[in-house]
Amino acid sequence: MTIDGRSAEALGTFDVINPATGEVAEQAPDASREQLDQAMAAAQAAFPEWRRDKEARRKALLAAADLMFARSEEIGRILTLEQGKPLHDATMEVVGAGVWLKYYARLELPREIIQDDGAAFVEVVRRPMGVVAAITPWNYPLLLATWKLAPALLAGNTVVLKPSPYTPLSSLKLGEVLRDVLPPGVFNVVTGGNDLGAWMTAHDVPRKISFTGSVATGKRVAAAAAPDLKRVTLELGGNDPAILLDDADPAVVADKLFGAAFQNNGQVCSAIKRVYVPEGLYGDVVEALAAKARSVKVGNGLEEGVQYGPINNRPQYERVSELVAEALAKGARAAAGGKPIDGPGYFFEPTILADLADGSRIVDEEQFGPALPIVKYTDLDEAVARANGTHFGLSGSVWGADAERAAEVAGRLECGTAWVNTHLALAPNQPFGGFKWSGVGVENGPWGLYGFTELQVIHRSRL
Ligand code: NAD
Repeated sequence: MTIDGRSAEALGTFDVINPATGEVAEQAPDASREQLDQAMAAAQAAFPEWRRDKEARRKALLAAADLMFARSEEIGRILTLEQGKPLHDATMEVVGAGVWLKYYARLELPREIIQDDGAAFVEVVRRPMGVVAAITPWNYPLLLATWKLAPALLAGNTVVLKPSPYTPLSSLKLGEVLRDVLPPGVFNVVTGGNDLGAWMTAHDVPRKISFTGSVATGKRVAAAAAPDLKRVTLELGGNDPAILLDDADPAVVADKLFGAAFQNNGQVCSAIKRVYVPEGLYGDVVEALAAKARSVKVGNGLEEGVQYGPINNRPQYERVSELVAEALAKGARAAAGGKPIDGPGYFFEPTILADLADGSRIVDEEQFGPALPIVKYTDLDEAVARANGTHFGLSGSVWGADAERAAEVAGRLECGTAWVNTHLALAPNQPFGGFKWSGVGVENGPWGLYGFTELQVIHRSRL
């Protein structure tokens, strides 16, 4: 682990499984409460100096970005080993981490003058909060860590990061690599089980919790933060709908729909998780998606040419298997795939499900895996109502030849990002967050940076 700029050993360890083989890949340190206290104390001690010098922070973030670019394949290999994604995607994730660090290195924190007259000079400025506790999930451990780290550090905070117990190794490596460019205590990385996350949210040092993960855990985090009135940003689950309009061309949209549903093997908070298709296009859309699903190569992410890896962990593999089996038992048709792939590892066939009964859990819940339900509709208003009829509200998309009309429909979706003729088009400068149970607050862009600050008014009286 990285505590106060140094390597810290833990007394205990836990297994990290390679999802491509189902076997133990490595041991990761299991932090004790005392070590968490040390990490928090180091972050607290580093804060006064770190918040002082904005230019030093910019330089450090740029240097951190360069390290990500230079060492992307080395760190990517670790990511593939623990997460399962193909090496190319893993390497690109590390490059993405560099892109986010670089973007924030250049961002300005505004100082707004709201009064300048004979009576007073009044400014509104943004101040760092102190220590940030950052907690991340297993689907994009490195990228999502930098979505927190980069803005938190630029704003002048210090950070203690805890990755998911399924994917601790890449974050441990991140801590080690960044020791070269960040002062001791500014960025600490501790690993352990879910208990460690709960200890962090109940700890009295952090002033802010930045959490990405499931809705259920997000609610626990919010409850744990409440007694101490810690600030929280919650990036939670999604059940993103894609609605095709009647002028959509299945041959044109199928590849993009498939790409946005199956990216990272469907393990993306804002992947397309259900598709609504007008009756007249239904057969063609299902067949085009099924053909695509049958054509892709699934395998160990370290092998050449593999496009999709395994599901990351056994509970998630079992959940996806169960949701698909239940849909099939209720009369759905597997136009492609439909079952686990024999052999070691948590592999599942890329699956397209058609003709689903109302009330299918794979439509109503977040599946977070390589299985996509395609739902028929006859009336557009009804499709919009079904798309919105959920506690989730992360993102959604509308597809059609008339972009104006599609944009009008997209505006009726109750979600943080509504795309037109695309999906999953994320960028560092766009705020990303969810309506309803999909989250509180946003990440990315200046808005994400503001989430790591408190507003302060400086009022100088001229009297
Ligand atoms: P999870 O909620 O199980 O775990 C997330 C993190 O929380 C892990 O580090 C875990 O150890 C920690 N944790 C567990 N219990 C805790 C507690 N009581 N207190 C504090 N921390 C605790 O989620 P997961 O299964 O790792 O990730 C998948 C979920 O994340 C999906 O629902 C997905 O949609 C969501 N997600 C959301 C976004 C987004 O930006 N909105 C991005 C990626 C993933």
